[in-house]
Amino acid sequence: MPDIRNIVILTGAGISAESGIDTFRGGGGLWEQHRVEDVATPEAFERDPDLVLRFYDMRREAIQTKLPNPAHEALARLDAAWDGDLLIVTQNVDDLHERAGARRVLHMHGEHLNAWCTACDARTRWTEPMIDRPACPACGQKALRPDVVWFGEMPYEMDRIYSAIRTADLFVSIGTSGAVYPAAGFVRDARQLGVRTLELNLERSEGSAWFHETRLGRASEVVPEWVDEVLAPAR
Ligand code: NAD
Repeated sequence: MPDIRNIVILTGAGISAESGIDTFRGGGGLWEQHRVEDVATPEAFERDPDLVLRFYDMRREAIQTKLPNPAHEALARLDAAWDGDLLIVTQNVDDLHERAGARRVLHMHGEHLNAWCTACDARTRWTEPMIDRPACPACGQKALRPDVVWFGEMPYEMDRIYSAIRTADLFVSIGTSGAVYPAAGFVRDARQLGVRTLELNLERSEGSAWFHETRLGRASEVVPEWVDEVLAPAR
């Protein structure tokens, strides 16, 4: 693949689907039997913190039993071998990119395995339940919440993401429905800046028309194929 030096990759729930982690929109608008508004908004947390904490406790426990799949492994291989700039911007809150070995990962929607203290702003790696309101290791206050970006909250590190897109030669979107903004708008931003755009997905996303190229298939197949192609000239 000539003329490509800097790559931005956006991943969504679809890349982790074959690891056994439910996607968002898979179940008829429900996310593990819950409406999004009931578990993934600041208002829901205010209204019924026990419900929200239990929901995230369950997801946090579940993701620790899951394993990276060949798509995560292929991106880790690309990360290790690629000399140019590379940024894997993930909307996923699981840690499967890191467990596969990828290093250049940015979690724009936060991480299940982090706790955020709303009293002192500290972030702490967290693998245990939060339902019993454990104390923040930094300040001792019982003010921890999952460090995930809920609907209505600002995603993390947007400046860094836009600056990577501005200098990218290639933008690749993997396993994301194109329904959640601002991530869904990255392809349009990239396109308007003259960046080449590629979509790898099971089915066309909502913003599919913005991509120069779309390859349909399971992430565990299309992602390793694409990585082999990108790395081929370097062999
Ligand atoms: P989404 O659920 O809206 O869309 C999933 C996309 O993945 C769809 O386009 C679907 O066609 C595709 N897909 C499903 N199985 C696939 C496969 N095997 N191979 C390739 N593609 C496949 O997900 P989204 O666009 O990421 O938005 C959901 C939001 O919910 C995200 O912001 C994220 O924070 C959160 N979420 C995260 C996780 C996780 O961390 N694993 C899981 C569910 C939801």
